This record gives sequence, structure tokens and C-alpha cells, in this order.
Amino acid sequence: MDPATAFVVASLMMLANGWVLGMVGRDFPAPLLPCTASWRIATLLLAGGALIHAARSFMPLEVSAPVANGLLLLGCTGYWRALRQFYGLPEARWIWAPAAVGIAGVVWFAVLHPHTSLRVLILSSCFTVLLLASFALLVSQKLPEGARSRRVMASLFAVIAVFTAGRAAYYVSQGVSPSLDMVGDGGWINLASPMVAALLPVVGTTAFLLMCSERIGRQWELAASTDYLTGLPNRRTLLTVGERRFGGSAPGARRLALALIDIDHFKSINDSHGHEVGDVALRHVAERLRAACRDGDLAARHGGEEFVLLWGGLDTTEARCAGERLCAQVASEPLRTDHALIPMTISMGVASAGEGDRSFHDLLRRADHALYAAKAGGRNRVETAQER
Ligand code: GH3
Ligand code: MG
Ligand code: MG
Repeated sequence: MDPATAFVVASLMMLANGWVLGMVGRDFPAPLLPCTASWRIATLLLAGGALIHAARSFMPLEVSAPVANGLLLLGCTGYWRALRQFYGLPEARWIWAPAAVGIAGVVWFAVLHPHTSLRVLILSSCFTVLLLASFALLVSQKLPEGARSRRVMASLFAVIAVFTAGRAAYYVSQGVSPSLDMVGDGGWINLASPMVAALLPVVGTTAFLLMCSERIGRQWELAASTDYLTGLPNRRTLLTVGERRFGGSAPGARRLALALIDIDHFKSINDSHGHEVGDVALRHVAERLRAACRDGDLAARHGGEEFVLLWGGLDTTEARCAGERLCAQVASEPLRTDHALIPMTISMGVASAGEGDRSFHDLLRRADHALYAAKAGGRNRVETAQER
């Protein structure tokens, strides 16, 4: 295959990938649309650059070099921008600087003062900077989410950056014609260039789609395990974690303890101030529960105006003390709205797992009985379930 055919094949593959991303990306959730659009545009720019390279024998170098390299530089910047958008970084004009320097350089050294080696050096430096910027962005991400596709993507950027720098060094050391076509032993590099240039739009687009789909999967998981109003884990998560911890506590180890918590006279907050203020009151209490959690504790919304606090390794007496502190804290911090100061209190039933409990549900049931006693005993208080 001659280099021009290789460039045509590469650009067709890029165009096909840009088309696939366009079709698939349309169904992505709104937050992912800007980055998929940027990635698609970048892919099309690279395809355009590769096509101009393929057709360069039909046009003067003064036209093909700035246009083709300009498109490729803008495409590489587009990928960097897409990744920045994917990770929620703000728009920044300075990311276009390497492309601007590269375009100015190629105009200068291809059109105004032709000098092949300097043209290769400045362009390759700008490409390498852009590729390494994306690489650095990817490797600086610490979240476990999408780690595998991120590693694939980072490796691609690294490989292409190394190839670009190595290719420039080779050209400059060997001495190269203005068309960059190597003859004899160096002929392989003419073919390798379009192949390597196609890696990002082709393999990179697949990795990018994988990153997006992993993000969507993670968001579904989060939505299914979290209560939308308070952001606390929901009942489903509570039962899963509770059963696991109940089953996992070794005999003789410190018992699993929990509090079933119910807001007092919550219906009257809804009735007097409206449902929306009721929702704010739920978030207010949820925030106090979240703040009361230490490592290994779990606060969850059990349903309605009921919450559960799961303590890792407290005995009944310690759990009761922790519960009383929380009750006092909620009572001391009324809910402040624009129109009113709404006093709030909670009641709590505390239970710790005993020999007689067969499941996490047994523990919850005993905490519920204790909560009933706390309500009957006047509210704003903690009652402890009988040890079993
Ligand atoms: P008690 O002290 O006996 O617990 O009285 P209460 O008024 O808190 O209990 P009750 O069970 O009579 O009322 C609970 C209310 O909580 C009724 C329901 O409309 C309200 N509620 C449940 N979920 C939500 C919610 O998501 N938002 C709002 N605003 N209210 C909710
Ligand atoms: Mg209730
Ligand atoms: Mg209540």
C-alpha cells in the first residue's frame, strides 16, 4: 500500500467512527452530550487532515501542509477539550495555544520561509504537547470509575506522543524532503504515520464510548442505591449493607447496633408550612445524620420521615449515648426558613444484634418496637430494645 492510499483508508476509518459516535452519542444523557460532540468534531477534523495529506500530490505544499496540519492540530485539541468536558473541567481558551503556535509555525516554515526540519520540529513539538496534555489529564484522574478504559486511552495518547517525537527526531537526523516522503530504508515511516494517526480516532473513539458507557452505568447504580431527596443511601442499600454486616459479625465480636429514627409530628410541618418545606426538613435531619457518621457507620433513609443509623462496633450503652447526643443536637438546631424557625425533634429506637436475632430484619423489628416505646414515652427521646 502506498502512503496516499494508507491516508485515504485511515481517513475513511475515522469518518466511519465519527459517524458511529454521532449515532450512539445521540442517546447519551444530557451531561455527556458536549464532550461527545467535541470528540466527534475532533474525529472529523482529523479525518479531514488525513484526506488532505492523501491528496497532497495534487496541490502545492504551501497549501497542503498548513491546511492538513492545521486540521490535525485542531483535532488533537478537540480531543483534549472533550476529555476536559468529560471530567467537568471548565472551558479554557489557552488549550488552543499549542494549535495556534503549530499553525503559525507551519505557515512560517512552509510558506513564508520554507525550512523542512524546523517545520517538522515545531509541528511535532505542538502535537506532542497536545497529546501529552490529554495523557496527563487521564492519568491524574483518581476515581476508580472507568479505570480500564481510561488506561487504554492514556496508553494510546502516550504511544502516539512517543511516535510523533521519535518520527520528528528520525526525519531531522536523516534529512528529509519537503514532502516528508522517505525513500529506501525509511519508507516504512511513510506507511506508519497514517496508521498511527488513525489509532486515536478509531481505537480512541471506542475507548471514549466505553468511558461514557461506564459513566452512565455508574450513574444508574448510584440512582438505584440513593434516595433522590436526601442523597442518603436508600432502603435497598440499607438492607443489603445491613444483611452483609449482620452475617459478617463474628461471634464474640462487638455487636452491630442500629437506631431507627422517626421525625416527631412531621405531618404537622407539612400541614402548616407545605410539602416543600417538609422536604427541606427531611434534608435538614438527613444532614445531621450524615454529619454524625464516622468511618464504618451508615445513615440511610428508611422511607417517609424514617431513617436508620447503622453503627459499626458500638455496644447497646454506647449506641444509646450516641443516639441521645444526636436527639439533643437535632432538638437544638431548629430548621430556619425564610418565614419561620421550625423546631424539630426526633425519636429513636436503638437495638444491638443479639444471639436471638436470626436476621437483620429481626434487629430492625426490635428497633421498631423500641421506637414505638419512645413515641409513647413522649417523643424527642431514645428507647433501647431488650437485649436478646
Ligand atoms: P409521629 O410523631 O407520630 O411520628 O407523627 P408524624 O406526623 O411524624 O407521623 P405520621 O406518620 O402521621 O406522618 C408522617 C408524614 O410524613 C406523612 C407523610 O405525608 C409525610 N411524608 C412522607 N414522606 C414524605 C416526603 O418525602 N416529603 C414530605 N414533605 N413529607 C413526607
Ligand atoms: Mg413515621
Ligand atoms: Mg414521624
